[in-house]
Amino acid sequence: MTTTTAGTPAESHVFEADVARLLHMMVHSVYSDKDVFLRELISNAADACEKLRYEAIAAPDLLAQDPSSRIVLSLDEDNRRLLVEDNGIGMSHDEMIEALGTIARSGTRAFMERIEANKAGEGAQLIGQFGVGFYSSFMVADRVDVVSRRAGSQQAWLWSSDGKGSYSIASADLAEAPARGTRIALHLMEDAKTYTSRWTLERIVKEQSGHVPVPITIIEKAG
Ligand code: ADP
Ligand code: MG
Repeated sequence: MTTTTAGTPAESHVFEADVARLLHMMVHSVYSDKDVFLRELISNAADACEKLRYEAIAAPDLLAQDPSSRIVLSLDEDNRRLLVEDNGIGMSHDEMIEALGTIARSGTRAFMERIEANKAGEGAQLIGQFGVGFYSSFMVADRVDVVSRRAGSQQAWLWSSDGKGSYSIASADLAEAPARGTRIALHLMEDAKTYTSRWTLERIVKEQSGHVPVPITIIEKAG
C-alpha cells in the first residue's frame, strides 16, 4: 500500500471493465498519431476553466483570489515528465472516481461500441476520429498522477495509475496541490520523450489547440 505525504493510506479501485479494455487498447495501440493526447488534456483543462467561470456567476468568491484562467505545460526532460496544469474547477474525490474510472461520456461509449462491432482492427484509426479523452494519456505515459483541488475546497486528492487495471486515490498535501484546479503528471515512456521538448509542444499546441480560449504557457523545469 502506498502512502502520501498527507499520511493517509491510498484507496485502491479497479477500473470499470470498459475502461480496462480501452486502456489496454491505448497501451498496445499502433496508432501513430500519439500527439492527440495533448489536445485531449488541453481541452479538458479549458473545459474545467469554463466550468469554473460558470459556477462563479453564482459564487464569485471562487474566482476572487485568482481571476484569470490559465493552462501551464511544464517540461521536465531530465525526469522525462510532462505536467499539464489548469486553475479551473478541479475535482472532488467522488468526481475523480466518476470521471477517471468509468466511461460516463457518450463519445467514449460510442467509440467502444464501434470497436466491439468491428473486430477488423480499425481501433487505431478510431482513436483519432473519436478523441478518446483523458485515457489517451496512457498512449504516451506508463504512469499518470492527477492532483486536483476543487475550487473552494480545503482538500486535495491524488489519483494515480499505471493504466493496468486499477488506480489509487489518496488525500494529497494541500501545500503540493494547485491552489485550485488540476495538475496532471505524465511519466513518459522512453519512446515518448519528445513530449518534453518545447519545440514539439509548441508545434502540437499550434496545430491542435489554436482555438482554445484559455492562454497556454509552456515552461521548462530545471532538473
Ligand atoms: P470528456 O472531456 O469528453 O468528458 P474525458 O475523458 O476527456 O472526457 O474526461 C473525462 C472527465 O474527467 C471530464 O468530463 C471531467 O469531468 C474530468 N476531467 C478531466 N480532466 C479534468 C480537468 N483538468 N479538470 C477537471 N475535470 C477534469
Ligand atoms: Mg475531454
